[in-house]
Amino acid sequence: MTIKTRFAPSPTGYLHVGGARTALFSWLYARKQGGKFVLRIEDTDLERSTQESVDAIFEGMEWLGLSHDEGPFYQTQRFDRYKEIIQQLLEQGDAYHCTCSREELDQLREQQKANKEKPRYNGKCKAENHSEGVIRFKNPVDGDVVINDLVKGEIVVSNKELDDLIIARSDGTPTYNLTVIVDDMDMQISHVIRGDDHINNTPRQINILGALDAELPKYAHVPMILGSDGARLSKRHGAVSVMQYRDEGFLPDALLNYLVRLGWSHGDQEVFSVEEMIALFDLDGCNVSASTFNPEKLLWLNHQYIMNSEPEHVAKHLEWHMDNQGLDVANGPALVEVVKAQRERSKTLVEMAVASHYFYKDFESYDEKAAKKNFKQGTDNVLQVLMDAFSQEAEWNGDKLHQIVLDTAETMELKLGKVAQPLRVAVSGAGVSPAIDVTLSLLGREKTLTRMQKAIEFIKEKNKG
Ligand code: GLU
Repeated sequence: MTIKTRFAPSPTGYLHVGGARTALFSWLYARKQGGKFVLRIEDTDLERSTQESVDAIFEGMEWLGLSHDEGPFYQTQRFDRYKEIIQQLLEQGDAYHCTCSREELDQLREQQKANKEKPRYNGKCKAENHSEGVIRFKNPVDGDVVINDLVKGEIVVSNKELDDLIIARSDGTPTYNLTVIVDDMDMQISHVIRGDDHINNTPRQINILGALDAELPKYAHVPMILGSDGARLSKRHGAVSVMQYRDEGFLPDALLNYLVRLGWSHGDQEVFSVEEMIALFDLDGCNVSASTFNPEKLLWLNHQYIMNSEPEHVAKHLEWHMDNQGLDVANGPALVEVVKAQRERSKTLVEMAVASHYFYKDFESYDEKAAKKNFKQGTDNVLQVLMDAFSQEAEWNGDKLHQIVLDTAETMELKLGKVAQPLRVAVSGAGVSPAIDVTLSLLGREKTLTRMQKAIEFIKEKNKG
């Protein structure tokens, strides 16, 4: 059997973390089994579907690196096929037209509620041979539907619990359950991996597939993601859009790693490269119950990835943030070197970019506290001595510059901090930067000397009179 999974989002908003996790599990399963991964856009809800959302889904999938092998297919381009199947079901006697009005149905529901029965369609039009109205699937009346769910185990649903579901609206357009099964059948999906919010649809879909004599896919329903308060994850728990995580400075690998662990485990391992995820992922390892989203853990993972990934990889993503923050990376050191210098202290790429502005652009003012503490009377002289020594250096070498700082402190009988710290503020504008040798070599001769000169003037001016 060829393994084929699919991700089938409805384009009614951004790609959210729940959707991304479903996509990831489906993608991993296909990759692990040497199968195919299909992307299908379920855009039949014309009122709620937008091109913007379709683009957002593509953007999110691309950023996460979840590449598809087939598609994207659009359900709106498959209406003829759905009509054909609806017609086939009508002709086979597995579907019928229903003319019950909304009022009638409301009344029926009220009655059933009053009798403490589960509200369901009573099959009134089943034997009436109408030729207009909505079309309902004739659900089997007896027996059970058994789902051998690959995550949840065996689920048995009695057909008595299921009513005759509408598969086409009165204008002939197909409904969700119909389009999904036609697509899963035509696209030869072997494994339907999706959120367990769809579990109620599965027995209905199995029955329709049965009426079409189609081979059944295997099902795996993955549990929901909850916020820390136990409610289903939503905007009020913070970022839920995948692209918002990019904007906030997360690496896609860190988010993928976080998402894979949200509902799946492999012993007590926490950090997985994408290759490891592919090698180890299995539906057996999926949790049966819901998982709770933990932003601190995601942040921790992001820091791990920033520190431990190839600096070139981090630099590629950092560049996006530098651009986004209006910095021209051509005006400063190679980003790879900045990554190496900043990665220990940056939990996000936004932090890293913000902390690296001064390498690429002159700052407008000094951090007030840092200037107050370090630009005291006489510091201009210290900086001047350093600057004269730096200027003599033919080669701009971090180690040598560092040695000059040490020597200057010694000759001037000052604590190292009294020399290095004013220098740091002078060249970076603030009291925190990578080690002084690294900071100076990243900045280069010209920026360093110009900024030292400026600081000397600033201190003189500040302490005048
Ligand atoms: N389009 C459905 C959704 O976005 C998913 C359908 C499915 O996976 O079967 O919830």
